[in-house]
Amino acid sequence: MPVPLLDLKAQFATIEGEVRRQIDDVLSSQGFILGPKVEEFEKQIAAYCGVPHAIGVASGSDALLISLMAIGLKPGECVITSAYSFFASCGCVSRLGGRPLFCDVSLDTYNLDPARVEELIATQCEVVDDGLRYRPTGGRVRAIIPVHLYGQCADMTALGAIAQRHGLTVIEDAAQAIGARHQGKLACAFGELGCLSFFPSKNLGGYGDGGMVTTLSAELAGIVRKLRVHGSSPKYYHPLIGMNSRLDALQAAILLAKLSHLDEWHEKRRANAAYYDQHLAGVGDIATPLVAPGNVSVYNQYIIRSARRDALLAHLKERGIGAMVYYPHALHLQPCYADLGYREGDMPNAERTVRENLSLPIYPELTDRQKQEVVAGVKEFYTAR
Ligand SMILES: *Cc1c(COP(=O)(O)O)cnc(C)c1O
Repeated sequence: MPVPLLDLKAQFATIEGEVRRQIDDVLSSQGFILGPKVEEFEKQIAAYCGVPHAIGVASGSDALLISLMAIGLKPGECVITSAYSFFASCGCVSRLGGRPLFCDVSLDTYNLDPARVEELIATQCEVVDDGLRYRPTGGRVRAIIPVHLYGQCADMTALGAIAQRHGLTVIEDAAQAIGARHQGKLACAFGELGCLSFFPSKNLGGYGDGGMVTTLSAELAGIVRKLRVHGSSPKYYHPLIGMNSRLDALQAAILLAKLSHLDEWHEKRRANAAYYDQHLAGVGDIATPLVAPGNVSVYNQYIIRSARRDALLAHLKERGIGAMVYYPHALHLQPCYADLGYREGDMPNAERTVRENLSLPIYPELTDRQKQEVVAGVKEFYTAR
């Protein structure tokens, strides 16, 4: 029995009526740009995340870019971020002429390691009158972008304290972590700004691209609202230079239909994770994912690690099990960042994770038989050789 990594058709079958009704509303209105569905969805996301402001944009990548534009990141300024994430977490910095300061992750959670952030600041930065500077270039360090990878919050208690001590703005990359909790608080409620993605494979996925900026600040909310419409307010009057990046009304309508199911889907992902935790514990050299104390994960991915990852992946593929390497490259070693001068060995945990990680099917609609099949496939690999 084949088990795909993700089965969006299985989910669609459970919500088809609601989704089609929502899409019909938009078609009847013929209003496709912003408007009532987007406003309603923004309100519901703000309430869901426990933040005062949420602004729909065209993608999670744009949410990050617009957040940095909103704080006025200038060329040459620096942003601390994770060496192990999706490219958007650092690409946004470079797009504005800034410099990402990569930092290693914890091998337990794959999130920014606060101790490594402290070390980076202590060894490579200096405090001057207007704040922190990156010593090699003299660029101001403006912000930190913690990524809540795979559905688990970074250690926002420690990272928040570091940011506060050094006057850094916190922008949460919560693209994979809507609904995740740290010490009882939800992702996006920690930083000045939070970024969500509604890419189809996220826990709350649209039928195309979509994203959201959340913020605790009314002032930043106003700036973000302008930036997504070319910096204009009122229309055709431009106090800022922005871009065209709006959440599509059709996507907002689809996401409204899906949002009411999100908590139930998170629960099913957690139940699937608990099943794997139990049945894969002690199998071969596998490390099952660790959820840090005080955290509640939404398991956007279920990641195991093995030193024999490539052979295990080949074996699972042969059995029709949709496992995937997610991610196969660390960010500090990407060819586009060769000029930053990072070397293999600079971020040992990120580099090891790149070699050892494997994502197993965890989507909510996974059946018991499919879960059994995944576990059987993994066990067979270790008993057969
Ligand atoms: C998906 C993702 C993004 C970008 O979101 P898009 O909507 O695909 O642009 C950013 N950061 C992380 C960690 C992601 O997983």
